[in-house]
Amino acid sequence: MYAPFELDIPNDLAGALAALANGDGEAVLPLAGGTNLIVDIRAGRERPDRMVGLDGVDELKGMEFGPERIAIGGRTTVSDLLRSPEIAREAPSLVEAARLFGGLMVRNTGTVAGNIASGSPAADLVPPLLTLDAELTLQSAASTRTLALDDYYLGYKQDARRPDELITRISWPRLPRDSVNTFYKLARRKGDAITVTGVAVTLAAAGGTCTTARIALASVAPVVRRVKEAEALLEGRALTPALIDEAAEAAAEACTPIDDIRASADYRRHTVRALTRRLVAGAWDRLA
Ligand SMILES: Cc1cc2nc3c(=O)[nH]c(=O)nc-3n(C[C@H](O)[C@H](O)[C@H](O)COP(=O)(O)OP(=O)(O)OC[C@H]3O[C@@H](n4cnc5c(N)ncnc54)[C@H](O)[C@@H]3O)c2cc1C
Repeated sequence: MYAPFELDIPNDLAGALAALANGDGEAVLPLAGGTNLIVDIRAGRERPDRMVGLDGVDELKGMEFGPERIAIGGRTTVSDLLRSPEIAREAPSLVEAARLFGGLMVRNTGTVAGNIASGSPAADLVPPLLTLDAELTLQSAASTRTLALDDYYLGYKQDARRPDELITRISWPRLPRDSVNTFYKLARRKGDAITVTGVAVTLAAAGGTCTTARIALASVAPVVRRVKEAEALLEGRALTPALIDEAAEAAAEACTPIDDIRASADYRRHTVRALTRRLVAGAWDRLA
């Protein structure tokens, strides 16, 4: 059932990065929870010669709540997010995504970095992180760099990560005081279902004006993406129902959904319009 592969099990970050660096022409992949990767290997979509198991790499766990930024390790699981009252306060959209994520076993093993690196257009943690302006730390044995999550995806299942790099940390600035950050997952049922349309929104306001607008969409394009066309219509303005309708229309026009077994492209576009309108209007009401 499985093509044979080697498995390295390093017990620290230096060991994991060294194991990834020594590829010698082999296909080497990091293995976190395995909830995507093992499925892909079974289906023949991935054929690694060697995998580097991250279970023993404690440096990839943990959360930091600094005065200005929140940071979590790449091996933070979906259940870790749900157990953290600070994350509930600082990133409500991430918790909303985590609540409807897979079943208990998948939430206990599936990691944030694995969700990002899988490159799935339906990855549920990515729209919330995009609307939080998240940055990734990408580390190899030779270098460490940070990259905006917004710049990470290059196309369907293509990203800016080099094969010898790990996503070690994900960080984002604390939300401004007057802000709303929210996510809606539309799926065929409430649990263990792939997202048909996902919409995350962050709005911040000051003096009756929208100072920050972030809108990100899942499952309606080759990659999870922000809709900057819609955000630009809202920022710097006092929001009205007509303006919110215009932004919702811009989001629907910007997406490029496909027909598949879960929904038609038309339905997805319609739900992008409806959910964007609903989430932005709801956020603006709460800010008022
Ligand atoms: C039954 C089931 C239900 C699911 N439900 C959902 C759902 O509701 N929402 C959703 O979004 N997804 C869902 N998934 C998909 C999957 O669980 C998530 O994407 C999960 O977050 C993947 O994390 P992982 O740790 O298991 O990654 P893995 O499977 O271990 O790895 C996934 C990819 O990321 C790479 N990778 C892992 N860690 C790192 C790292 N630190 N740095 C760089 N690359 C890394 C691996 O090499 C691989 O390419 C589901 C899967 C299953 C089987």
